[in-house]
Amino acid sequence: MSAKNNSNKCLYCGACVGVCPVSAITLKDTRIFINEKCINCGACVNICPVSAMKLDKK
Ligand code: SF4
Ligand code: SF4
Repeated sequence: MSAKNNSNKCLYCGACVGVCPVSAITLKDTRIFINEKCINCGACVNICPVSAMKLDKK
């Protein structure tokens, strides 16, 4: 399980990148990458000003 980014909403502000406790998020140009280190903690979901992050509930 990992967080998912909605690229239609994302503003690429970088707030989620800074808040992730395991540095799982990378912002490159206008794309957000979430790698396998994600522990589904929800910090990025909570910090995002436009609710572009969601937890993957499998
Ligand atoms: S905090 Fe939200 S808007 Fe900002 S880069 Fe992350 S997903 Fe995008
Ligand atoms: S859910 Fe937590 S661990 Fe996963 S990308 Fe967001 S802040 Fe990082």
